[in-house]
Amino acid sequence: MARLPRFDVLFEPIKIGPVTAPNRFYCVPHASGMTNTMPRMRAALRGMKAEGGWGVVCSGYVSVHPTADDSPLPYATLWDDNDIRSHALMTDAVHEHGALAGIELWHGGGSVSNKTSRLPPLSPSGISWMATHVGFMGNQRSKAMDKTDIRNLLRWQAEAARKAKRAGFDIVYVYAGMGYLPYEFLLPEWNMRSDEYGGSLRNRARIVRELLETTRDAVGGTCAVALRISLEELRARPSERAASEAHEAVELLANVPDLWDVKMDSSPTDCAPSRFTPEGSHEPVIEFVKRLTGKPVVGVGRFTSPDTMVSQIKRGVLDLIGAARPSIADPFLPRKINEGREQDIRECIGCNICISSWHDGVPVRCTQNPTIGEEWRRDWHPERFAAAGAESAVLIVGGGPAGLECALTLGRRGYQVSLADAGERFGGRLRFEITLPGLATWGRVLDWRLGQLQRLDNVTLYAGNKLSADEVLGLEHQRIVIATGARWTRRLYSTLELPAGTLEAPNVFTPDDVAAGTHIEGPIVVFDYDNYYLGGALAEFLARTARVTYVTPAGHASAWTIMTNEQPQVHRALANAGVELKTLSLVAGIKDDAVRVTDLFTGAEQTLPCKSLVIVGARSAENELYRLLLARQADWAAAGITSVDCIGDALAPGAIAHAVHSAHRYARELDQPAGREIYRRDSPILESAPLLYDPGSHGVPAP
Ligand code: ADP
Ligand code: SF4
Repeated sequence: MARLPRFDVLFEPIKIGPVTAPNRFYCVPHASGMTNTMPRMRAALRGMKAEGGWGVVCSGYVSVHPTADDSPLPYATLWDDNDIRSHALMTDAVHEHGALAGIELWHGGGSVSNKTSRLPPLSPSGISWMATHVGFMGNQRSKAMDKTDIRNLLRWQAEAARKAKRAGFDIVYVYAGMGYLPYEFLLPEWNMRSDEYGGSLRNRARIVRELLETTRDAVGGTCAVALRISLEELRARPSERAASEAHEAVELLANVPDLWDVKMDSSPTDCAPSRFTPEGSHEPVIEFVKRLTGKPVVGVGRFTSPDTMVSQIKRGVLDLIGAARPSIADPFLPRKINEGREQDIRECIGCNICISSWHDGVPVRCTQNPTIGEEWRRDWHPERFAAAGAESAVLIVGGGPAGLECALTLGRRGYQVSLADAGERFGGRLRFEITLPGLATWGRVLDWRLGQLQRLDNVTLYAGNKLSADEVLGLEHQRIVIATGARWTRRLYSTLELPAGTLEAPNVFTPDDVAAGTHIEGPIVVFDYDNYYLGGALAEFLARTARVTYVTPAGHASAWTIMTNEQPQVHRALANAGVELKTLSLVAGIKDDAVRVTDLFTGAEQTLPCKSLVIVGARSAENELYRLLLARQADWAAAGITSVDCIGDALAPGAIAHAVHSAHRYARELDQPAGREIYRRDSPILESAPLLYDPGSHGVPAP
């Protein structure tokens, strides 16, 4: 199929300083959870995006010096020659597909605590970040930078830029955003200096200008110099010289960088979750930049629709369509548009499981794309699949996210697949969950898979079919896959975090009861120790018709959602919905019209009025069918069955991302040679270590 002419503009080459991007698809720097200890995984991840058609593919954040040590978070370094070799793998992987490679050089300033390097963190005036996320907290504060420190910073940037060039990068960044060092200079609350680096905005922006100039001196001529800057806070500040301090800053530096990469200031607004923030949310903050510079501008906004992308360009908001999440959910997004297959784009759902991976310190995961991070270590290509290893017919029981993903991947491999679900509509747990406040976009998990499945002649869908073990044995399929999901339990835990039995009473409910349409009479207590999205979303939903108190042993509502950038907004949503909050508390029992609640630490008891208690706690695998079939193994041969396996929540309950990954892994590995149980493990690059990609003329350190 040919690309639609209205999308032609997206495929125009764009000059960025001395280099030219082959199109307007720009994969902005984003954390991959892969440090320099995983250079091959990182190279394969970024190379896959280039193969998928992104014209520019950037690294994640790369520290220029040990005073910028973000441990235990997974950050990359460019400190020595082995680091050059490590990054050269990525530039070669990206260049192999004709894309440009960008590197985000980074100094964390007073936002880091140098837990590994033990060097004093540096900041403009000795004022550090305040962290509300325990993963970011530290007890080492920063040193106020003197003139020697400023000279050193410029030198480190220049040295790192030269190393970046030797590693083969085409675009080298100065990063003045998100609370990091150059950004700290821009804001007077951090920057209280009385020298030429403090005071007026011209002075506060001096370090950014000098970093850009020093980078250009180091690598200009062959590499483009990009400025990544957060503009949200500056835009909110009045200026005597311009419409805001953001306008003034852009005017001051208008043509100093070759490229403006503009973004928001904090992770929850920058990488905003779809539950609370629509696509294109950066536009009101960054829309003015293009009017004040002649240089190309790139920005993000969870763009997945090519029409929205074209609109951004036509309306003069952006020159290059930046993406982190949409490129994770579908590394082949540009190619699909180019081939007239935009309806095949696997759209990001804005759940931010990807960002949670960085917070967890592990390689990136994605709800929509189970292959992300697995390109090298499991050899998973998002668009290519090994042909079926045998002529088996596969019956999948359960059509939630796991069953759908399994059917799609097996179908693509060429198996004859039957997918049955007890419900009238496929979708499993998500069918109800996407009706909860803010969760509609997550329906893309189902819509995309169902849309793709419809095009496969070898996959047949049977809705409204609850299958028993007898029926499964009679259906003449060789491979049986059980994807029957999980059920919420009424289990409680003690203050020692030990399981403490279940709370059985007629007015104790679970999310499954709410999903089934059971009337839940108010006043309601939602007791949430699952800590992810469902407890908060259910409380908000139930508060539409009843008085709701949300009780949790954690310190915050939906405490784990700090990992997905949702947590601050969950609190706001609950407050707006009139939900009362009771944190650091356990439910101890229920009697008549009251629930007994214990303070987690003091043991003090309290009763809350409650006609219905909804426990959002532990889930347990719904694997009865699986167990029944295992018990009848003696009947398999006569039924022609060679295997019965369990996937997704029926195997081990988890987030949707886990179910999809589990299903994908089963489908990839069916009839494949054994031995894949342990994935390939990456290792740091040492001079003697073999390289995945021949670094050719790009990455070999000069003797
Ligand atoms: P997962 O996240 O692992 O996909 P879900 O709970 O979302 O799990 O989906 C499980 C699906 O399995 C539900 O749609 C449910 O209707 C279906 N199911 C459970 N038991 C059976 C059965 N015996 N026959 C057919 N479908 C079933
Ligand atoms: Fe999008 Fe969620 Fe995948 Fe992140 S994890 S890229 S937010 S679908």
